[in-house]
Amino acid sequence: MQRRTLLKLAAALSAIGIARAPATARSSRSSSNQNKELITMNDVIIIGGSFAGLAAALQLGRARRKVTVLDTGLQRNRFAGRSHGMLGHDHKPPSAILTEARRQLAHYPTIRLVNAGADSVSGAIDDFSVLTGDGESLKARRLILSYGIVDQMPDVPGFAEAWGTAIVPCPYCDGFEVADQHWGLVWSGPQSMNQVRLFHDWTDNLTVFADVHDIAPDFRADLAGRKVPVIDGRITGVARHGSHGATIKIDTGPDVAVDILFAHPRNKPSASLHETLGLTTVATPTGIAIKTDDRRETSTPGIYAAGDLANPGIPSVTTATWQGAMAGIFAQQSMLV
Ligand SMILES: Cc1cc2nc3c(=O)[nH]c(=O)nc-3n(C[C@H](O)[C@H](O)[C@H](O)COP(=O)(O)OP(=O)(O)OC[C@H]3O[C@@H](n4cnc5c(N)ncnc54)[C@H](O)[C@@H]3O)c2cc1C
Repeated sequence: MQRRTLLKLAAALSAIGIARAPATARSSRSSSNQNKELITMNDVIIIGGSFAGLAAALQLGRARRKVTVLDTGLQRNRFAGRSHGMLGHDHKPPSAILTEARRQLAHYPTIRLVNAGADSVSGAIDDFSVLTGDGESLKARRLILSYGIVDQMPDVPGFAEAWGTAIVPCPYCDGFEVADQHWGLVWSGPQSMNQVRLFHDWTDNLTVFADVHDIAPDFRADLAGRKVPVIDGRITGVARHGSHGATIKIDTGPDVAVDILFAHPRNKPSASLHETLGLTTVATPTGIAIKTDDRRETSTPGIYAAGDLANPGIPSVTTATWQGAMAGIFAQQSMLV
């Protein structure tokens, strides 16, 4: 049988739910022209297949819904050697958690994992269209957006190289390993005062780096009362040493060594599909998040969002997984007859 005939047969079987969906699209498709022959209606297309997206897929696959997960493989914590705080997965490399999740999802015949990005999205509830970077056109009744956010590295030599090891954002993720040591915090706005208060559970040895931010007099008084020194001036470089330590270079004074530096650079969504779709967003201290209701539905009916992309609170592997699972469940329940 010729390849074209085989593809048509596969499409027909898939449409009536007989064919087992391949775990990786690329493994069974060789060109975008052939891919276009396989347009079938999914129940849900999930855009972003990391912690949130795969958790959504798991719930939908167990409910026997037809799901395609698109993913470009750039999860936010890929710079960290270990992921901490996820029950049952503490201390594992982030990629190991995701590899195991994908292996488990491959058992569900209605889930298809595709190593490609979503380039464009259009349509409305019950009839969304997604075009992938591989040129494949997909259709679905519901969408789940879980494409995460990108941390925007400041133009400071050494900062990007130290991100994920000597410079980290979250004490729940990396605080335990450096408890009672000398921590630094790059001030990023009034919300940084909450971080200072939070950090006392791990260490009382903290230095704040103003890094050209104006720190209000009442905050300075509070910091002085906590015996937290403030280093004014601009950070001009970071030199990592050891597993966590860093030397911070300041334009107006001597270098300062810390055992770990906490920082919260600006971030932005990893893709702009939510803008094309006109979804409502909310401001966070360091960027924006897609607004959802309690059922994780966005401002557009039929489109759900989960994970860091839609989390104005405390982003983590645990919260992304929980939100993803909820998005999957509520998307499925919205299609009940
Ligand atoms: C340095 C660092 C260390 C961290 N350590 C921890 C930790 O120890 N414990 C913890 O709980 N949390 C940690 N976090 C937070 C954690 O990384 C995030 O909360 C988590 O990754 C969010 O999961 P997510 O699925 O929402 O997004 P992500 O994991 O960021 O995944 C988004 C996925 O979408 C894909 N994507 C992007 N655009 C598209 C597109 N157009 N089409 C298809 N796919 C697309 C990306 O490639 C990526 O695979 C850390 C974060 C950082 C920055």
